[in-house]
Amino acid sequence: MKDVLIKGKDLSAFCHNLQDSFIVYGVREKEEGHFIFDEIDEFSDSLEKYKPTILPPKKYLFPQQETLLRFDTEPHLEIKSVVESKKQVLFGVRPCDIHGIGLLDKIFTSDNEDSNYLRKRADTLIIGMDCMEPCYEHAHCASVGCLDIDDGYDIMMTDIGGVFFTTVKTPQGEEIVKKYVEYTIAGEEESERFLKLRSDRKGRFDNKIETEVSNLPLFFKNADNDPVWKELDERCLGCGRCNIVCPTCYCFDVYDCMDLTMTSGERCREWDACTLKDFAAVSTGENFRSTRGLRLRHRFNRKFNYLMTKYNTSFCVGCGRCTRSCPVNIDVIETVNAVINNHNNNHERE
Ligand code: SF4
Ligand code: SF4
Repeated sequence: MKDVLIKGKDLSAFCHNLQDSFIVYGVREKEEGHFIFDEIDEFSDSLEKYKPTILPPKKYLFPQQETLLRFDTEPHLEIKSVVESKKQVLFGVRPCDIHGIGLLDKIFTSDNEDSNYLRKRADTLIIGMDCMEPCYEHAHCASVGCLDIDDGYDIMMTDIGGVFFTTVKTPQGEEIVKKYVEYTIAGEEESERFLKLRSDRKGRFDNKIETEVSNLPLFFKNADNDPVWKELDERCLGCGRCNIVCPTCYCFDVYDCMDLTMTSGERCREWDACTLKDFAAVSTGENFRSTRGLRLRHRFNRKFNYLMTKYNTSFCVGCGRCTRSCPVNIDVIETVNAVINNHNNNHERE
């Protein structure tokens, strides 16, 4: 389908009409300056400039708690898998969070496919909302290559001045545009305006990382003994907030809940956090990452080294949520730049 134009005043009707067939999750201002993804029945155009939500929209694909199977042990063992899903639309998702979902797609389809995630993902349509300027001071999406996005959404809307230039990416995207909203085909003038705005925005997004993002695995491979981990060991509280708000963290814990008869129950999973003390503790009593500094070193290596090396893309999408949420102001960009600078200073001395 060709690019189309949707008037700003028609977005609320779009959102409303989609509810004929989907549960629609969009952005709501919970309290001043704090936004969440929630079930909505209309789109508020004042939210076009929303700051990253407290939790990313991954919670609708990979919920904080989820039942994986139910079992009975009497009269004989019976196990039933549980995959709960419903048709849903994520409305107004920013490029960083779309990149985050794209990374979860990679994780949950490589090695062992995660049927719970995949069913929800197949039932989900993503309506993106592009960014023309940094949404707040902690955003560093452009620094990690996650501002521009060509994939991972069904439609992408860009405000070109009262009207949204809309790129339709998938057949499902085409279907919802044709069925649920008034639109016109974009002309040459609007296409040119869109391209100019996209090109002009580059100057507004600084590169906050003091090297090319593709160099980061090399810096982190050589940073095991960097003094920054000692400094962070003293500051970090080990609270796990930075993991919980991150759109690309996907670790979970699995546990069984038995009912009172002790003959049946559920196997559940819930988000876990590698910055928590017990994350790497094993049953013999050892803890492979017993200090907060070691746990943070691991977390940064996951984002900028281990997974980046395996998948050839940054596993930080630049949303800045971890920096915003940290109670002791540990800043992801300051930490990355400290590793780069300490490495460079060591080499100058040699
Ligand atoms: S590491 Fe921090 S800035 Fe990067 S994606 Fe996770 S929460 Fe966002
Ligand atoms: S949010 Fe801050 S204090 Fe809490 S674990 Fe993460 S870095 Fe440490």
